[in-house]
Amino acid sequence: MSSCEKCWSDSYRIARSSGKAQAEVYSELVKARKCTPEEQAGEDSEVCDICNRKTIHRVTGQCMNPECKNCNGEIK
Ligand SMILES: [Zn+2]
Ligand SMILES: [Zn+2]
Repeated sequence: MSSCEKCWSDSYRIARSSGKAQAEVYSELVKARKCTPEEQAGEDSEVCDICNRKTIHRVTGQCMNPECKNCNGEIK
């Protein structure tokens, strides 16, 4: 499962200012928020060929839309 880019980048900032571990801050953020697939994929994400949403994760290349038929998230 790809990480949420929005929560990951926010957790980096919060961890730096609070002194907490980034992974700990990240897991709290992901649980507390309900990020959209577009937010999870990140601002530099690409549009998925199958669902036509801007949900291709910029690091892993997986589609973050849970309803997308591209269920493995691999770009073929
Ligand atoms: Zn998130
Ligand atoms: Zn898709």
